[in-house]
Amino acid sequence: MTRVLLLGGTAEARALADRLVAAGIDVTTSLAGRVADPRLPAGAVRIGGFGGIDGLRAALADYEAVVDATHPFATTMSANAAAACAAAGRPLLRLERPGWTEPAGASWHWVDSHEQAAQRAAALGRRPVLTIGRQQLGAYLPALADAAVLARVVEAPSISVPPGWTVLGDRGPYALAGELALLGEHRADVVVTKDSGGEYTWPKMLAARELGVPIVIVRRPVPALGVQVVHTVEQVLVWVMSWC
Ligand code: NAP
Repeated sequence: MTRVLLLGGTAEARALADRLVAAGIDVTTSLAGRVADPRLPAGAVRIGGFGGIDGLRAALADYEAVVDATHPFATTMSANAAAACAAAGRPLLRLERPGWTEPAGASWHWVDSHEQAAQRAAALGRRPVLTIGRQQLGAYLPALADAAVLARVVEAPSISVPPGWTVLGDRGPYALAGELALLGEHRADVVVTKDSGGEYTWPKMLAARELGVPIVIVRRPVPALGVQVVHTVEQVLVWVMSWC
């Protein structure tokens, strides 16, 4: 039987694992281990890094095909998967949710990096809400050290934040009513986000539009070259079946 390694950590990876298990496919989801209490998918799960390209290449001895369904901003893992699969001769498919599109009436400011996002947010407001995760928070310190930042994160940040910042631990999916309340109570004057795509965190974009709050949005990094990309779980199922 074909054994599939599914690089996960996203809602669509969990949805895919459900479907593969239901179809009788031997799938193992790999999680980085960043979150203390992760939502676990159906099927087998392994947790923790592989040890770079060489470690992943060695691990591929146990699998016949790989699906990279990691987050659009998890670029190191995707690049490692491309290199290791090429070296080990394993087929690789990338499942990536589409990016977001600005709706009518919104005010989005696209930037290419977190450093640029910090500068733009500082120019737009003094009460930013940061929803960019915890790993990149350090990039916001120079420009926003004196601002009344509300930083929403899943896990506590490893850096210490300025006294004027508030760190809010929470995990999506989020609803519009809650996002309106969050932005309203903080009196947010700018929201910062990555172009994560998907529905789990989309309500904040609608809430910001409704309240007239501008959004600074970090563009996606350039994807790994030469890897076939699909956008739906159904497309992955068809691909996996072609290897069975
Ligand atoms: P990253 O920077 O691309 O990867 C850094 C290292 O973490 C990789 O080299 C690998 O270590 C390990 N790693 C990452 N994803 C892994 C996986 N699924 N299984 C095993 N090891 C993994 O990754 P990241 O941005 O920190 O994201 C980590 C995880 O969180 C990913 O699974 C991603 O899908 C999920 N996630 C990320 C974001 C985000 O904004 N970046 C948001 C939501 C969820 P080794 O080199 O030792 O193999």
